[in-house]
Amino acid sequence: MNEIKVTLADQLKQKPLAEQLEFGRIFTDHMFIMDYTAGKGWHDARIIPYQPLVLDPAAIVFHYGQTVFEGMKAYETPEGKVRLFRPEKNMQRLNKSNDRLCIPQIDEKLALSAIKKLISIDKEWVPSAEGTSLYIRPFVISTEPYLGVAPSKNYQFIVILAPVGAYYKEGINPVKIAVENQFVRAVAGGTGEAKTAGNYASSLKAQELVADKGYAQVLWLDGLEKKYIEEVGSMNVFFKIDGEIITPALNGSILEGVTRNSVISLLKHWGYPVNERKITMDEVYQAHKNGTLEEAFGSGTAAVISPIGELAWRGENIVINESKTGFVSKQLYGILTGIQTGKEEDPFNWTVEIE
Ligand SMILES: *Cc1c(COP(=O)(O)O)cnc(C)c1O
Repeated sequence: MNEIKVTLADQLKQKPLAEQLEFGRIFTDHMFIMDYTAGKGWHDARIIPYQPLVLDPAAIVFHYGQTVFEGMKAYETPEGKVRLFRPEKNMQRLNKSNDRLCIPQIDEKLALSAIKKLISIDKEWVPSAEGTSLYIRPFVISTEPYLGVAPSKNYQFIVILAPVGAYYKEGINPVKIAVENQFVRAVAGGTGEAKTAGNYASSLKAQELVADKGYAQVLWLDGLEKKYIEEVGSMNVFFKIDGEIITPALNGSILEGVTRNSVISLLKHWGYPVNERKITMDEVYQAHKNGTLEEAFGSGTAAVISPIGELAWRGENIVINESKTGFVSKQLYGILTGIQTGKEEDPFNWTVEIE
């Protein structure tokens, strides 16, 4: 079971130059794959050349979206070693998402050792330029050919790797965000807490409508009253109001980010007052009016920290910190990326070196 069979590619692909790197368009030479069959469990863990999948057109994943994914990164340190950032948290979350989608649990240790082995095989693909990294995309698909609405009997767990460029080409820059008053991302009791395809499919419409008006993303409000702030795009969100740093408390519809958790720990470590609590858009607007809205930013693996320069809400433009990156955002971005790339002390032992 714990054996991972390796078949190496005969021909290796040409690696891109650092300046050609975008997000998620280029993939490495190999992939990990493991099958699940009802009655047999997970089996045939293997690393094979990167290749298309062959699936029955009736596979459940295509029709009912029984699927989950993860997103994490590997970074090259100044000494040329490769490090992961809190990967065990991603494996735990993968299984939480699996549970919500009725997908069988995966051995977290096996999944992590598969990821490490895959990265060490494709180690040459870990980019080293400032701001670049190797994005890791583990995911599970339901493969049983069946049009009835029921959990699949068969699955595949797959890991692919993509070298990605610097999220911010000219350093970290604040973005314009539109508060979303019509569409909602998720509701408590739904699947918002799980990293599952449907949440992202349902977010596209709102994103497309605001992109036409020049906004980078939407700020999602709660699905019931459209009053409480939940997330920004596919990132968690933080506000600094009168010295207090606030992030919406986990409520069943918010995705629990590893970056969110790390930001909270770092801020506490530095002595900032941090609170996970409900926060309304009205409170943010009042703080803006009385001059106490100091900073706002999103947090997530892809961008790490994304400052919010402006919020459009009910015809008002709420400009935050003169649309400049705030002190806390800058500090968090610098330290978090520093820890991830091995350039800063790692006081919480968050990074894991791949031998
Ligand atoms: C993945 C994700 C996040 C951020 O999670 P990280 O673990 O920090 O990358 C936040 N919100 C949504 C909806 C997400 O899918």
